[in-house]
Amino acid sequence: MRTTDAVWLAPGEPQEIQSDLVNRFQQEYGRAASGTWFAPGRANLNGEHIDFHAGRCLPLALAHGTYVAAAPRTDGQLRLRTLDPSLDDGVTTVAPDAIGPGAAVEATGHWSQYVSGVLWALRELGDSQPEFQVDPDFGADLLVLSTLPIGGGLSSSAALECASILAFLALGTPFGQENPLQNLNAALTKQHRKELASACVRAEVEVVGAGTGGLDQSAALRARPGKVLSLDCRDFSVTPLDIGCILRGYRLIAVDTGEAHRLADGQFGQRRADAEAATALLGLDRLRDALPERPRKADVTHVLEEFDRLSEQLETLEGRSIAACRRRLRHALTEMVRSEKLHHLLSGDSYGVRHIASTIGDILTAGHMSMRDDAEVSFDVADMVVETALAQGAEGARLIGGGFGGSVLVLISPAAIPKLTAALERISRSIRLLDVAPSAAAHAL
Ligand code: ADP
Ligand code: MG
Repeated sequence: MRTTDAVWLAPGEPQEIQSDLVNRFQQEYGRAASGTWFAPGRANLNGEHIDFHAGRCLPLALAHGTYVAAAPRTDGQLRLRTLDPSLDDGVTTVAPDAIGPGAAVEATGHWSQYVSGVLWALRELGDSQPEFQVDPDFGADLLVLSTLPIGGGLSSSAALECASILAFLALGTPFGQENPLQNLNAALTKQHRKELASACVRAEVEVVGAGTGGLDQSAALRARPGKVLSLDCRDFSVTPLDIGCILRGYRLIAVDTGEAHRLADGQFGQRRADAEAATALLGLDRLRDALPERPRKADVTHVLEEFDRLSEQLETLEGRSIAACRRRLRHALTEMVRSEKLHHLLSGDSYGVRHIASTIGDILTAGHMSMRDDAEVSFDVADMVVETALAQGAEGARLIGGGFGGSVLVLISPAAIPKLTAALERISRSIRLLDVAPSAAAHAL
């Protein structure tokens, strides 16, 4: 087993990581950290590229995530350092007037925007919610360590945002003063977590400029241990669903392909714009409304027929290829049908389904085909990982995250894992495997 052990990426021991991080914080900033906050990465059973269409997503939090050690400042500055070797460029200082959307141009592309964006978004939230009001002179020193692949489709960006927002909440607001250290965890209500998730979305959309729709931040702040979070993006309500029926006898594995995605280079935005053009042609504000509450394949066919009728006389759609817009539309619609089906399966409608793992596996694989052929966001290594997993006996496998790089989620029986890891090692030396153990949401350590 020694050779295959090397490909597993362990989440590490939180207490050990925390004490190491706190020591390094002392060395870096010459003073003690006031606390450490953690937010998890996520996997997703289904629901890619549909959060911004108000579709349903089925994420679960990983044990892997991002740790932020921090101490407050009183000069409004942020000083930040990441220990990720590929991004570490020493301490970055963000001046108070460089925090927020207006400052985006100067710092474009630097990871510190995710953190400064979150401080801005928390200030905005505090304007309407006194207990979350950030002191005007508040600033902080932060040291960041992640056990996630960065840019690997497992949502390291949201993990960074969500761990940071808890740090800022704890150190800079009346709510944090009243609920010091781990008291924060019990004091945070479901409603608070929902509001904090939406503040993190604002940071990523308005400051970083990424096209996130809320799936990642909701997973990081609102997941439950042992559960899949069924997230209805019409109103961001959540239903935690038991996943025991899948994990009895099977395991979920995230295969990080080692190809970091580049969502900001416009590809993701192009796909989204195609789907939005199709939505507009259908006369809808949000695509989820094209389908009934419990949609079936026939409903998808009807919407596609309507699209064909409306686009018949057109050369292009807002300058976009009609055929491409139709494929994005078909991905979003079938993805919504798969999500609703999974939601009902995991809600107990599985009674009488003899092979629930194989049913869910088939949904995963159908999701991959849709990501590959309709959303057109897959890539060679991901397709090879899916094919290899299925050939090694996996129940199902699919690309998760935004695509153009990232990770594949595999549902497989433990007995088949050694052969799978050996086969994956032959595809690429950069492949890493993460055990997907549905874990807790963001918290203070
Ligand atoms: P994903 O969220 O799938 O990992 P993204 O492209 O959305 O990929 O986010 C990756 C970006 O988030 C990185 O390029 C970096 O800017 C920021 N980031 C994430 N984790 C860290 C970290 N530990 N340290 C510094 N920056 C990070
Ligand atoms: Mg991300």
